[in-house]
Amino acid sequence: MSKAVEGIWPEFLAIAREEVGSRTVETWFCAMSFVKWDSHTKIVYLSVPNPFVRDWVAARYTPLLEQSLARLLHEHKVNVHLTQSNEHEKHVMVPEIKAGEQPLSVVPAVRAPAKPVRVRRDHHAQTLYRFDNFVVGSHNSLAYAAAQAVADRLGTLYNPFFIYGNSGLGKTHLLHAIGNEVRARHAGCTILYQSANRFVSDFINAIRFDKVYQFELQYRNVDLLLIDDIQFISNKEQTQEFFFHIFNVLHQAHKQIICTSDSLPRDIAGLADRVRSRLESGLVADISEPSFETKVAIIKRKAEQQGSQVNDDVAEYIASLETNNIRDLEGVLIRLFAYASLTKQAPTLEVAQQALVRRAEPKKAVAITLPAIVQKVAAQFSLSVDQLKSKARTKDITHARHVALFLMKKLTSHSLREIGTFLRRRDHTTVIHALEKIEQLRHKDATCDRLIKNIEHELRAS
Ligand code: ADP
Ligand code: MG
Repeated sequence: MSKAVEGIWPEFLAIAREEVGSRTVETWFCAMSFVKWDSHTKIVYLSVPNPFVRDWVAARYTPLLEQSLARLLHEHKVNVHLTQSNEHEKHVMVPEIKAGEQPLSVVPAVRAPAKPVRVRRDHHAQTLYRFDNFVVGSHNSLAYAAAQAVADRLGTLYNPFFIYGNSGLGKTHLLHAIGNEVRARHAGCTILYQSANRFVSDFINAIRFDKVYQFELQYRNVDLLLIDDIQFISNKEQTQEFFFHIFNVLHQAHKQIICTSDSLPRDIAGLADRVRSRLESGLVADISEPSFETKVAIIKRKAEQQGSQVNDDVAEYIASLETNNIRDLEGVLIRLFAYASLTKQAPTLEVAQQALVRRAEPKKAVAITLPAIVQKVAAQFSLSVDQLKSKARTKDITHARHVALFLMKKLTSHSLREIGTFLRRRDHTTVIHALEKIEQLRHKDATCDRLIKNIEHELRAS
């Protein structure tokens, strides 16, 4: 075979990437290779690793192969023959797929390989995430209660159990907590935790390397299947089909399935209807955004977990940062501890502020926080932060407190409730009242208006 003809295969791969996307190319075409071109019969011989790949490619990509290869070979028309390399044939375990049959529907009938397959008994080793270190707030109480109930009555209560919520809100933590709880109670249980991303790539590799049988065994022999971030199977048609199959096998055997996702099944684009309806058929629980108080509690708990402690003002400072992503807040805490220990200081509020200002992202460093506002306002009125947070209702203190509440609303994206809580005001109508008061005053009193503008300016500049 001449080098020139052999060279058309990489060219075909490039065209195919354009036409059908690189994932399809990696999955199917990269597992194939160019064998020969017979210019008399106008046949291109390509080798495939197994019948599964052969049938899948033949059913879907014959026109693409024949048209593109004809163009590359400067022929009017070519035929493509997909052949299995003999060497590979010895290891083939996937049976022939009959005409018209969906390839994945044959998976349950896959012939066992001669050698027994070793199934990893316990694929679940994350012990840091437990129920006892999961802080419960109103944003996660349903998911938490349901998770405990599911761990209690595996496979019989809510099956599947589906947890969804934004990134960094504790879905993976809860998923592992269930796994750890089940393992602690039932030593013989087989638990398998897998991120959907890994599920997809393992499945693709299983197909490419003839390990579908082993892959399937790993999943169908578990008592508890934990799939994290199931949204990653969207638009992965074959993986979804396989997941659907595994789901049914486990469900019928009353084995528990738990999935997490960043959104509701119905909002995951590119999910097959039948997969979607299976996922919705049990209990669906959400984790919403944590309140300010819960963020504070989580930060304190995380500090303890690291063998350290932070004072209320430090925890409140971190909780007042704009994000609700607990992972990000933990990052801030770690940074604070590192900074404090490097500079040999205690992790006080000032140190926290310094540590944060020195953060790499300039955008976050200038974010105006609730503690910064309160400090600045207190200083302007020659009061202490404690006085602003106190119950005192003298005219001066009340006015300064109103200014602080006004600026907190104006300069941050915190809710009225969070702002009220920060100044130890139980009722958020206090905040509304303060906002109205200050608005009126600024119209009437130019000095007051200027003072507030000054504070705002200084806060933005710092
Ligand atoms: P997700 O999977 O939703 O993106 P994770 O479960 O990975 O989020 O949570 C991110 C981090 O935040 C983890 O370290 C987790 O322990 C922590 N976390 C989130 N919610 C809580 C909570 N309620 N209590 C304690 N830690 C939490
Ligand atoms: Mg996660």
